[in-house]
Amino acid sequence: MKSRNLLYFCLILYTFIDNIYAKGEEFDNSLQAQSMLSVLYAQSSAEYEASNIQTYVNAKSALDRALNDVTWTAAIEQKDNFENKPPAIILDIDETVLNNVPFQARSIIDGQSYPTGWLDWMLEESSDAVAGVSDFLEYSQSKGVKIFYVTNRIAVAEDATRNNLKKLGLPLDTDRDVLLMKNENGWTSDKISRRKLVAKDYRILLLIGDQLGDFLPLDETTLELDARKELADTYKHMWGSKWFMITNPMYGRWEASIYNNEYPDTEDGLMQMRLEALKPKDKIN
Ligand SMILES: [Mg+2]
Repeated sequence: MKSRNLLYFCLILYTFIDNIYAKGEEFDNSLQAQSMLSVLYAQSSAEYEASNIQTYVNAKSALDRALNDVTWTAAIEQKDNFENKPPAIILDIDETVLNNVPFQARSIIDGQSYPTGWLDWMLEESSDAVAGVSDFLEYSQSKGVKIFYVTNRIAVAEDATRNNLKKLGLPLDTDRDVLLMKNENGWTSDKISRRKLVAKDYRILLLIGDQLGDFLPLDETTLELDARKELADTYKHMWGSKWFMITNPMYGRWEASIYNNEYPDTEDGLMQMRLEALKPKDKIN
């Protein structure tokens, strides 16, 4: 009897220790917590809200100019014979149309990193609209502009994404597929082929996104940090007229460029490269 009690005691003790250990692991979110201020900026600041409204108000003015100029195209993939095609715009979805900041908040709290939980989040269909986008899209639709969404959400999330856009009352035409997903029809993360597809039938007035790849071929944007920044300057004639960039301080290929586009295997390695990427100017005195 005594030995049985001892066995029970050991079992309970083991379960207790195991729980503490598991909890400790679950809440080791030190890596994710490094994103906290950027996530709070996107979730809590009036400045982020104002910046996005500003972008979409400016995009509306640009749309008017583009409609009145048949020589205007925003896609570098669109070379010629587009003057008489009907007008269209292309928008990315995540952090351009749909706001997924609550997913980022969850990742910090749960100590988990993308892609863990991402599919579940998409299937919840509960993203809000990015500030300013609803008015802009309503205006574009009223002007007879076709609205295409070119997203790197995977095809299994297409229905959920469609539902989410509809719940927000955002335009989503049904006469042809205007929601072009990654993995659909063999499309890769590179958005060139999808932009080319739209360019076949439409004159592309504007591109709107939160990543360089929403505007340019991926191989052109996969560069080391400084060269990538120079690319933004190379296309300075496009920003704010034909291309509109939504600021995303939370995630993106800008982060990969900190690691020379090769994510380190360990969290320590990741943190080390982040530290090394900081550039304090030499103090003068
Ligand atoms: Mg995006």
